[in-house]
Amino acid sequence: MTRPTPEMRRAMAEADVGDDTYGEDPTVRLLEEETAAILGKEAALFVPSGCMGNQIAVAVHTKPGQGIVLDHLSHVAMVEAKAVTGFLGCRLITVPAERGLLDPGLVERGFADAKRAGVAIGLVEVENTHNWSSGAIYPLPLLDSIASDAAARGVPVHMDGARLWNASAATGTPLATFASRAHSVMVCYSKGLGAPVGSAVAGSRAFLERARAERKTFGGSMRQAGIVAAGALHAVRHHRERLVEDHRRAGRLAGAFAEIQGLELCHAEVRTNIVVADTGGDEAVRDAFLHAAAAEGVLLGPAAGGPGRFRAVTHLDVDDAGIDRAIAAVRIAARSVLVS
Ligand SMILES: *Cc1c(COP(=O)(O)O)cnc(C)c1O
Repeated sequence: MTRPTPEMRRAMAEADVGDDTYGEDPTVRLLEEETAAILGKEAALFVPSGCMGNQIAVAVHTKPGQGIVLDHLSHVAMVEAKAVTGFLGCRLITVPAERGLLDPGLVERGFADAKRAGVAIGLVEVENTHNWSSGAIYPLPLLDSIASDAAARGVPVHMDGARLWNASAATGTPLATFASRAHSVMVCYSKGLGAPVGSAVAGSRAFLERARAERKTFGGSMRQAGIVAAGALHAVRHHRERLVEDHRRAGRLAGAFAEIQGLELCHAEVRTNIVVADTGGDEAVRDAFLHAAAAEGVLLGPAAGGPGRFRAVTHLDVDDAGIDRAIAAVRIAARSVLVS
């Protein structure tokens, strides 16, 4: 939803470029080096999208026929299932995690379910922050217990950190600290960070070598990619500190939604930039509500986890006045669709 800022446009226009398929794009290399350093990993790989980053990690970590233990509302299960099962031949072993956050008991349950189905687990996947759970953040002790549990079973952990930047901004915990609990991590430069295109997947040098080959196979190896990498680099350098503003504004939205008749917050705790709430009805009611809000000039999206759920996300292009307008629009939509 964000538009590149004039400064970002300038950085993109002036970017040094080369053929990244041969590793010769200096801007892509700079972005990959800075990202790897932030994540505390040996290396990072620029990819066109978060979906591709996750799928590359699955391709490197697993063999066809193996299972992945993950939350039932995770992005990989909700959006990428066809790629992971159809193209990579994996089985999804989903567990119903509270707020999307796995714990040792759920991991245990996933392994037991897989065993009964005759499936060997090849990967445990965690999503931090968790999109459909109002951007829930993994507490470090929970990540620790999952990491040691998976390690004891000899299974790697992949972190879908599309919004790991937000987890770090909200907690003050460095991204590298979160990332150290996983063998590989995917981060998005688009979304709240505000770059027009791009994500990265990071891990050990050995992981990266295989990831690079998988990226080529997936069709994600780009040529003069420095033009888009420059936008991502600008976002990493200049848009991270302001994420706390998005979080503060999402908190205001959540507080207002909680007071609006006909709406129910799905998660009491909103610490990052996503608010999921429920209109209490079926999909038709929810969609009528979303239309009414759109007619007031405010875009909200449907959310997974229940037929009446919707999602509000704050970002770079939403200021305090925008939050005021959003609250007013949601109030009007709720009054006309949900209460009357
Ligand atoms: C958006 C998102 C992705 C995928 O990123 P794309 O760039 O849209 O492919 C993966 N995981 C999570 C949690 C996301 O929110």
